[in-house]
Parts: sequence; structure tokens; C-alpha cells
Amino acid sequence: MIRAPRGTFDVLPDDAARRRTLEAHAERILGAAGYGQIETPTFEATELFARGVGEATDIVRKEMYTFDDGGGRSLTLRPEGTAPVCRAYIEHGMHKLPQPVKLWYLSSFFRAEAPQRGRYRQFWQVGAEAIGSAAPETDAELIVLLADLLGAVGAKGVRLRLSSLGTPETRAEYREELKLYLHARESRLSEDVRERIDQNPLRAFDATDPGTRDVMREAPLLLDRLDPQDAAHFAQVRELLDTGGVGYEIDPSLVRGLDYYTRTVFEFESDVLGAQSGVGGGGRYDGLMEELDGPATPACGFAAGVERMLLAAGEPPAPPDHVDLFIALAKPNGAGTGFELSRAARRAGLSAQLELAGRSLKGQLKHADRIGARYVAIVGDDGHVSLKDMESGQQRELDAADVVQAVRKP
Ligand code: ATP
Ligand code: MG
Repeated sequence: MIRAPRGTFDVLPDDAARRRTLEAHAERILGAAGYGQIETPTFEATELFARGVGEATDIVRKEMYTFDDGGGRSLTLRPEGTAPVCRAYIEHGMHKLPQPVKLWYLSSFFRAEAPQRGRYRQFWQVGAEAIGSAAPETDAELIVLLADLLGAVGAKGVRLRLSSLGTPETRAEYREELKLYLHARESRLSEDVRERIDQNPLRAFDATDPGTRDVMREAPLLLDRLDPQDAAHFAQVRELLDTGGVGYEIDPSLVRGLDYYTRTVFEFESDVLGAQSGVGGGGRYDGLMEELDGPATPACGFAAGVERMLLAAGEPPAPPDHVDLFIALAKPNGAGTGFELSRAARRAGLSAQLELAGRSLKGQLKHADRIGARYVAIVGDDGHVSLKDMESGQQRELDAADVVQAVRKP
């Protein structure tokens, strides 16, 4: 038997219904805030995702599905949505439009990760990007929109962590300060943290051993090193959230790997998700557009995992599809009449299903009951139909031409 590749899954009809509901919420919530939908290609030139150097880039590259297009060009299945949306912004000259340009997407993404619950190799994200605004209101608005989406979807146990990263320069200086601080206390750190002070000093904040945790309690914080403009920007974002009654915790250890991130970063977690607790996150990336050779443009966005949002919502059973009319065939020679009746019913806006399995009449009625049909039209000879009300059990005879009207106005 050929199976779906590891870390991928089929979206079956019940799942598809829940996903459609989620998409409708996203469209309503983001559309009402002026976000227009965008869909970019599933694969892009590899350079779009593999930029610059350093550890963060390595991590991204390791997770990427990269392939040769057969003509010597390297392509990559999109691992995330922000860079493609920025590429589209530049390519279509969207800086000439009124700013900010607000875009949202619901697309699938691809990462070669170790599959587990909530972590797949093809997964879907709802994302939103506001490009061309540095205003703290933009950051706060995106956070509120994602909070609203999580609320509408019914995600449970949700917490918001918030921080600010300042500028890449501030971060570089801070890294040096933190390295010095850690080197001066090496003997109290875990071996793991000690060995990686120079590559990744920030990891020390995630350590769980008592020695390292003790040291980190007194460690300098990036949040205390922000320059005055960045600190003021962050204060305004917080004030807007406070005024809006959006709860959050400041988490100075919240970091995003990539250098183009600036200022606000945030992450929503759900405590019903276990190890893969992140439902969605985002932040400001004022440096990305220039990195992609576009005009310097401030921007902010979020991405939230569709599967994790649904897991956090607790998978209620999908509501049964409603069927107005099931068309049963008492005699095989009624098939033509039945076929036309099903089309007429659907044209009139009813949901109608025709017997397709050659069941006995008894079997057909049982099936109609199982799928929750409101009425069954039993097609007999010469266009005569017996219409059964499945709620009351009452049955009446009528002409095939009158069935649709009878079902619409019983
Ligand atoms: P994680 O810490 O779980 O690896 P991440 O930092 O890689 O998350 P982002 O790149 O910020 O995640 O993507 C935003 C959201 O997309 C995540 O919060 C999560 O809900 C979802 N997501 C990320 N990777 C996967 C995956 N492999 N499978 C399913 N959902 C994912
Ligand atoms: Mg990840």
C-alpha cells in the first residue's frame, strides 16, 4: 500500500468543514480590518529564503525542501509566508499604493522537521502582514486581530507573550554584553550552555538546570538596553494592549531567530497543546524589505498554524451536513426522472442527493435516515413520486414536477 509521506496528512471531509469555518473567520476578521487576500506560489527561488549567514539561516536551511528545477535553478518549497509576501510587494511596486499595504493569506508551508503532534512537514498557516507602517498601533492591531481569530476559532488555554528586540545593532551589543556576563560565571553554568556561549548566548535563558537559572536571574536583559525610540515604541504597544484589555506577559527571553526582526515580537501559546505549544506569533521586521533589495519599508505581521489552532480548539465533531432531499428509486426505470429531480432541486437552492449505489428501497430509506435527509422522494413509474417527510413519517403522492415546491414550502 502506498501511504502519504511521513509528516503529511490528508484533509478528509469533516476536517475540511472545520478548516472552512476557520478560513471564514479569518476572512471576516482580517477583511473587516482592511486586509486583502494574497496567494503566492508554492515554490520560490531559493535565495528568497536562504539569505545572509549565521546560525538562524542554517536552521531555516536545514528545514527547507530545496530542489533543482531541471535547468540548473534552485527552487524551494515555501517554509514561511513573510518573505514571499514581501517579494510580491516589491515585484508589484506596492510601495506606490497607499500605505500600509495590508495582506493576509491562508496557505500551506513545508519544513523538513521531525513529525509529531502539531508538527508536520506540510502544514497550513493563516498569516497577515501590514507593510509600510512603523506605527505602534499597527503592531497592537495585528496582536488584537490574532487574538480575535483565536477567540473565534475557540482556541483554549491561550496566553500571549510579548517583548521587543530593538534594532539589530542594539542586539549585537547586547549579545556581547551577555557573553561577557556568562563567561565570567562559566563554572555555575550547565555544560550545554557553557559550550555554546559564543554561538548562542541567548539559549541560556531557556535552560532548566538550577545553576544556570540562578545565573540568569541576574543577567542583563535586552529589554533594558533598548534605545529611547525603541523603548517608547514598545511602551506605546503595551499601552494600546492595556487599554484594549488584552492580557499579556512580558517575556524578555522571547527571541526570533532572524536578523531582520526589529522591535515588537509576540507569541500566542496554548497550554492544551503540549510540547508544540506555539499557536501563532509574529512581530515587526523593519529590516526585511531592504534585505530583499526593496525600498526601506517598516512592516509587521503574524502567522498562526491552522492545525494547532484546531487542536487548541479541541476538535468538536463537525456539524452533520444537512440534506433537504434524498431521491430514492423504487424501480430502476425511474432513474431518469430521479436524475432530473436532483438537478431541479439543486437549481432551486436545495441540497439533494440521488441514490447511486443500487440499494433495495428499504436500504435506500435506511441510508436517507443515516445521512439525516429531511425528505425522501421515492420515484416510481411514469413520473409519480411519493414524498416522505422523515420527521413526521407522513407520505403523500405527487407529480415529479411538484416535488421541489413541496420541499421548499411543505
Ligand atoms: P515552533 O516553535 O513550534 O517550531 P516556529 O517558531 O517554527 O514554531 P513560526 O515559524 O513562527 O513557528 O510559524 C508560526 C506558527 O506556525 C507556529 O506558531 C505554529 O502554530 C505553526 N507551525 C510552525 N511550524 C509548524 C509545523 N512544522 N507544523 C505545524 N504547524 C507549524
Ligand atoms: Mg519551528
